[in-house]
Amino acid sequence: MEKLNGLRCRECGRHYPAAPVHVCEFCFGPLEVDYRYDALKGVVTRESIATGPPSMWRYKDLLPIDGDIAVGHHVGFTPLIRARNLADELGCREVWVKNDSVCHPSWSFKDRVVAVAVTKAREFGFDTVACASTGNLANSVAAHAAEGRLKSYIFIPADLEQGKVIATLVYSPTLVAVHGTYDEVNRLCSEIADKYRWAFVNVNFRPYYSEGSKSYGFEIVEQLGWRTPAHIVVPCAGGSLITKIWKALKELKILGLLDERLKTKMHAAQALGCGPIVTMIKNDTDVLVPVRPNTIAKSLAIGNPADGYYAYKTTKESGGSGEHATDEEIVEGMLLLARTEGIFTETAGGVTVAAARKLIERGVIPRDESIVICITGNGLKTPDALQDRLDAHVKINPSLSAFDRALADLKSQTT
Ligand SMILES: *Cc1c(COP(=O)(O)O)cnc(C)c1O
Ligand SMILES: [Zn+2]
Repeated sequence: MEKLNGLRCRECGRHYPAAPVHVCEFCFGPLEVDYRYDALKGVVTRESIATGPPSMWRYKDLLPIDGDIAVGHHVGFTPLIRARNLADELGCREVWVKNDSVCHPSWSFKDRVVAVAVTKAREFGFDTVACASTGNLANSVAAHAAEGRLKSYIFIPADLEQGKVIATLVYSPTLVAVHGTYDEVNRLCSEIADKYRWAFVNVNFRPYYSEGSKSYGFEIVEQLGWRTPAHIVVPCAGGSLITKIWKALKELKILGLLDERLKTKMHAAQALGCGPIVTMIKNDTDVLVPVRPNTIAKSLAIGNPADGYYAYKTTKESGGSGEHATDEEIVEGMLLLARTEGIFTETAGGVTVAAARKLIERGVIPRDESIVICITGNGLKTPDALQDRLDAHVKINPSLSAFDRALADLKSQTT
């Protein structure tokens, strides 16, 4: 089955053969993978998907991979959890959490994009992979490069959380800490990608990389029993994930896998200290004003997001909206999800929970409609965010009487 037409410019529509390129030579628009949906229709069915492996690769026919999967065989197919306690707390009828905080192997949804990009890099004969990262991408590229026995160069802002740095270094990449913001790291990586023949997963491989995010959307729909939720709240950094979840829903519609009209509203979640996409939504303008990030949600701290315009368009086209979360609200969001559902997410997850809550309180998301909250990363990587907030543990000497006294104290405090 010939499923790919190569690449296509998102702006002027010009076609390009499949290659490690990402920008249109004519209009500088971003390139996107172009599928032959006519060839896929009737071939990709609910049944054919169900016979696939319990990983993102059950949707391989809808991903830009021609040959065998090179790395990340077990990525994806993470739990979609009916969050009844959280729903109670938010006063909502139907809330779901799509939990990529337990995505294999590096505990964030970035494993989805990296598995595709690194497999594609191998297809094109690259021996070195690289990335500009806000943290989770660094973890994932280093892990998959190790698995694929490829060299890796990982570029990060020097002020990244220690948890994210250690969870990268453990795989023995070359880690380059740059004194600057992510946006400065990214600009540097564009120059390096021009000079060295490396597969930068989110620069020259971005068209392939971003397709991996579609699997997050496919899974939501399949795990809901081939229903689409009324609302999906998505954390945004570069703006790719929200754009590609929307693309996934549209592809399922095109392939005839949805019974109903596609009515899902896509909502963007960002930190107030770095929220240029949500600012576009609130001001209803398609002009992105870059910002200098200042937030604890470092994994979302991209001041000049590559897909910001398309993320804005996604919310607009779907009838969705967006919300900012302050650092305080981010921590509250992390604690709320942990307290209600037993899920420890990182700061980005706190942003999403907080934004969802505000959209519900504002009435933008009606309380009687189905909501999926996208949890994309693991809290054990960013414990620093909670350091000063959690100190209520009981300290005693190892004796029963000491414990009895402590218990009596606790009880008197709570009554
Ligand atoms: C990168 C990242 C995002 C946002 O992804 P984009 O596709 O760049 O918008 C969301 N959550 C987490 C935890 C991330 O690491
Ligand atoms: Zn073009």
